[in-house]
Amino acid sequence: MAGLILFGPPGAGKGTQAVSLAESFNIPHISTGDLFRAAISGQTPLGLKVQSYLDKGQLVPDQVVIDMVRERLMQSDTSGGWLLDGFPRTIPQAQTLDNLLQEMNQNCDRVINLQVPEQTLITRMLSRGRKDDTEAVIQDRLQVYHRETAPILDFYRDRNYLVDIDGDTTVDVVTERIKTALADLS
Ligand code: AMP
Repeated sequence: MAGLILFGPPGAGKGTQAVSLAESFNIPHISTGDLFRAAISGQTPLGLKVQSYLDKGQLVPDQVVIDMVRERLMQSDTSGGWLLDGFPRTIPQAQTLDNLLQEMNQNCDRVINLQVPEQTLITRMLSRGRKDDTEAVIQDRLQVYHRETAPILDFYRDRNYLVDIDGDTTVDVVTERIKTALADLS
């Protein structure tokens, strides 16, 4: 059982690292951004509701994200653990996750904080070519990160399960660093 959160600014490599991490722990990778993008391309009611937020690089309202994550975590494949990528992104989301995990009789084992300098983030996002990776939207997302998301670090730092990982290097080296930091869990 491993409950993991991949944390970091947009462009830090969360999605890339999440794929191999979820595979090696054999746990589902739950990316709120991927879930929203799937809803948008499927033109579901959720997709229609959230599209303008993603286009502008703004956060989807907490209650919408929380309802979606609650439903996802309640599925049976999470009983052996889970890897959250892109959630929580606000203090209320982090508090709600605490309550939800308590309800589920589970806990978070580690928050992996990927640290990458801002210029590297911008270069990486510009080369990714996602619809919300234009220069203006990238700037908005970075601002939102500093204002709304970064304060969560203190929320988790108080609990001793936050690990800082220098993510300013190649994918493989970062993967190794994360695996080393989680070695006691596998
Ligand atoms: P990501 O793929 O994680 O970069 O997320 C893409 C976009 O989805 C973000 O810019 C937000 O608009 C939205 N989003 C993803 N996760 C969250 C979240 N936890 N809270 C609010 N909005 C989110």
